[in-house]
Amino acid sequence: MGLMSMVSKREKFTESLKKKYPNVYSFLKEKIERNECPFCGERFSAKWSLARHLFTRHVEDLKMLSKMLREKADEKEIFDRIFLPLMVEES
Ligand SMILES: [Zn+2]
Repeated sequence: MGLMSMVSKREKFTESLKKKYPNVYSFLKEKIERNECPFCGERFSAKWSLARHLFTRHVEDLKMLSKMLREKADEKEIFDRIFLPLMVEES
């Protein structure tokens, strides 16, 4: 998969998140704006290297996230299962 298609895939993904899951969206947006991985907290110097990291290291996490979105899991469940370990670690 080329870099541009990875980026546009991510944009499409966050766009649909924005409507249905505003809290998950703003969490991801904040992380991505800081070039920080939303799954493991690793920091990057550029967006493209974060995108590459997401689509190489976190394919399973992304699959889990999109599975939960497809199954219309609520936001709390998504945070509990996917993002909470990271948020706890940070505080
Ligand atoms: Zn990561």
